[in-house]
Amino acid sequence: MNKPKVRVATCSLAGCFGCHMSFLDMDEAIIPLIEKIEFDRSPLTDIKSIGTCDIGLIEGGLCNEENKEVLHQFRQHCTLLVAVGACAINGGVPAMRNHFTVDECLEESYLNGLGVIDAQIPSDAELPKLLSKVIPLQSEVRIDYILPGCPPPPQAFLELINAIIEKREPVLDYHNRRFD
Ligand code: SF4
Repeated sequence: MNKPKVRVATCSLAGCFGCHMSFLDMDEAIIPLIEKIEFDRSPLTDIKSIGTCDIGLIEGGLCNEENKEVLHQFRQHCTLLVAVGACAINGGVPAMRNHFTVDECLEESYLNGLGVIDAQIPSDAELPKLLSKVIPLQSEVRIDYILPGCPPPPQAFLELINAIIEKREPVLDYHNRRFD
């Protein structure tokens, strides 16, 4: 009888989708992988709500209340949670705003920034409230694995997922890290 597939969910919080693009960069290596895994909630499937999963891959840190909500849903539904990339692990590029207040960031973006004309600070009630600082995932929930890099290279995703399936420690050596 065929072994049940490992169910994987992915999402991008305060990230740029570069980590998801790197995952897809594994090209034809995804064919044998897809024999072993199936996707749940993910931008790759466009499934919007998460079910019970074995692995949750999360790109990006936390910059607003909605990010926190999604992270807790992933923690609740995934056996193993992976912080994917520098933004998830330490805040990354979005955390550069931590040197300023939220008001200063909004004023620079929507009122005073170079080339900004006749704009206003968005205030729709549906917009998620910004956190005062961008924070990494592990400051909010338990994280089981990290995939370092910006973005982590495709082979790092492969190594981690295969290691979890084979119930061994992943080998994330120098070649499985990339910052470029
Ligand atoms: Fe983008 Fe790099 Fe952050 Fe990944 S780690 S979301 S590639 S900026």
